[in-house]
Amino acid sequence: MPTLYESEVNKYGFGLSFNDTCIELHPKGMPNEVWLEIQHSEYEHYENPFVTKLCPLRNFKLIRHRDIEYTKKYAGRYVSKSWVIGYCKHNQKAAIKRSSEHEELMEITYEKREQEKLLEERARKQSRENAEKIHKTQKKRTGYHKGAEICPKCGGDALRNCNYCDGTGWVGFE
Ligand SMILES: [Zn+2]
Repeated sequence: MPTLYESEVNKYGFGLSFNDTCIELHPKGMPNEVWLEIQHSEYEHYENPFVTKLCPLRNFKLIRHRDIEYTKKYAGRYVSKSWVIGYCKHNQKAAIKRSSEHEELMEITYEKREQEKLLEERARKQSRENAEKIHKTQKKRTGYHKGAEICPKCGGDALRNCNYCDGTGWVGFE
């Protein structure tokens, strides 16, 4: 069975993932963008219509190419390991470019998310401060009355000894 290791394609800007039957080559760090799919395992070989025999592959079998036209043309062909390495070498520049574009995009997305988090945090802080200001300038009145709300400290549990609502479960500001 032909084998291919990540370390053999890594230097050309490629990464690989594999399962029992296939190896997928992708620009480093982008496993969802498959540029070349090759079969490496045993396959079913029909010696005649009535006998199914498992034969070990001597070479890789090309399953899918990044280019649809190439796939149409070459799918099912057998390719040697050196052909696969050659493919990586040939596409080295493009793969590295794609990876770095992807990385940049991820960084931008990350920065944007961090920025949003910061703004959210600022907004939360502002509303907290506003709330505190209201509580400072307005007079607190405990006990049930019109406009009173369930005590935020004890959750209105008047059974508990709560200083904030004086154990009434209700707090209002006026
Ligand atoms: Zn309370």
